Amino acid sequence: LSERLGGVFDRLTKQGSLSDEDVKTALREVRVALLEADVSLPVARDFVKAVQEKATGQAVTKSITPGQQVVKIVHDALIDTLRGEGEPGALKIDNPPAPILMVGLQGGGKTTTTAKLAKRLKERDGKKVLMASLDVNRPAAMEQLAILGVQIGVDTLPIVKGEDPVAIAKRAKTQASMGGYDVYMLDTAGRLSIDEELMQQVEAVRNVANPRETLLVVDGLTGQDAVHTAQNFDDRIGITGVVLTRMDGDGRGGAALSMRAVTGKPIKFVGLGEKMDALETFEPERIAGRILGMGDIVALVEKAQETIEAEQAEKMMKRMAKGQFNMNDLRMQLEQMIKMGGMQGMMGMMPGMGKMAKQVEASGFDDKILKQQIALIQSMTKKERANPALLQASRKKRIARGAGMEVSELNKLLKMHRQMSDMMKKMGKMGKGGMLKQAMK
Ligand code: GDP
Ligand code: MG
Repeated sequence: LSERLGGVFDRLTKQGSLSDEDVKTALREVRVALLEADVSLPVARDFVKAVQEKATGQAVTKSITPGQQVVKIVHDALIDTLRGEGEPGALKIDNPPAPILMVGLQGGGKTTTTAKLAKRLKERDGKKVLMASLDVNRPAAMEQLAILGVQIGVDTLPIVKGEDPVAIAKRAKTQASMGGYDVYMLDTAGRLSIDEELMQQVEAVRNVANPRETLLVVDGLTGQDAVHTAQNFDDRIGITGVVLTRMDGDGRGGAALSMRAVTGKPIKFVGLGEKMDALETFEPERIAGRILGMGDIVALVEKAQETIEAEQAEKMMKRMAKGQFNMNDLRMQLEQMIKMGGMQGMMGMMPGMGKMAKQVEASGFDDKILKQQIALIQSMTKKERANPALLQASRKKRIARGAGMEVSELNKLLKMHRQMSDMMKKMGKMGKGGMLKQAMK
C-alpha cells in the first residue's frame, strides 16, 4: 500500500496544487489500496466517496506537498470512521451478575477471548467472573475453557454432560446469582460459516440470558467474509461491540474498517496473540496507521502544521515586542486559546499573565465568549484590524451588527486589546534578555 500511494502522491507533489482531478486520481488508488488491506468493496467505495467530499476544496498547508496533505486527510478520516462513541474498551457490566455473550464463527477466537477478557475484568476491574462454555458441538471445547480458567484463576461452570446450550445458560445465570459473581460470560459454539441452526441456537441463548453485552469475535485477518458475518450476527442477535482477534498477524486489518462501517458498533478490543494477556483496548489511531501504512507522512504533516503555528506565534511575539499588537494578532491569540483549553490555560502559560488568568477564571470567561470575540474581529475590515484606533462610533455599530452583538461587547474586546497591547509594550521594553524573548524559546 505504501508504495502504491507513494507513487501517486509523488505525482501530485510535482503539480504543486490539489485540484479536483488530483483528489480523484489519488483516491482511486486509495480505494484499490483499501481493498488490498482487505476492506470490503462497498465499504471502501463509501469511504473514498466521503473522503473525496471532505478533501475537495481543502487548503493545503504551507510547506507540505499536496500529496502529503491527502495522506493526512485520508488518515484522519480513517480514524474518524474507526472510532465509535463512548470510551474504548468500556463494557456495561453494572447490576451484577451481568451476562456477556460471546458470539462468532468457529475458530474466530471466542474461547480464547472469553478467557482473556475474564482475566482483564478480574485484574483491572476487580470483578468476580464466572465463565461457561455453551459449545456442546465439540467435546474438547468445554475442556479448553476449563483449562484456561484454571490458568487465569477464574471459575468456570462445572460441565454437565448432555445438557443443551440454553440449559447451560440458565444454570450459569443461577450459579452467578448465588455465587455472588459480578459478571458471567457465555462462550458459544461457532460454525465454519453462518447457518440457520447456529443462529437459532445463539438466539435462544440470547433470549434466556438477556446479555448486557454481546461481543462479536472476528478474526481480524478475514477479509470480505467478515462483513457478511458481522451483518448477519448483528441483524439476528444484535451485537453491542466487536473484538478483532489475530491482529498480531501481519495482515493490514482492513476488517476493522468494514466492521465499523457495516455494523456501526464499536470495536472494543483487539487480540494480539494466543497468550492470556494479549488483549488490548482498541486504538483507532494505531489501526488507521496500519491500514494506510503511511505513518511517516502523517507524522511529517502534523509536524509541519505545528511548525507553522509556532512560526506565526513567533512573528506575533516579535511584533508585540515592538508594540504592534493588532486585531489579527488578537484573533490568533483567541483561536489559540480555544485550542489550548480556553483562556486560563493560555494565559497561565504567558509570563506575567498568571493574575489575569485568575481574574478570567473568576469572571466565567469561556470558549463561547472567545468565539464571539473572534466573530467581532471577523466583522472588521482589513484596515480596522490592522489599526484599531480607526474604530469610531459608526464603525463600531457596523461591526457589532455584523457579528450579531452589542457595541458594549465590542468595547470590552477593544479594552482587552488595549490592556494586552500595553502589557506587551512593557514587556518588550525589558530589553534583549526580556520576558518575551524568554517566552519565545
Ligand atoms: P473459537 O472457536 O472461536 O472459540 O476460537 P478459539 O478461541 O478456540 O481460537 C482458535 C485459535 O486461535 C486458537 O489456537 C487460539 O490460540 C488462536 N487465537 C485466538 N485469538 C488469537 C489472537 O489474538 N492471536 C493469535 N495469534 N491467535 C489467536
Ligand atoms: Mg470455542
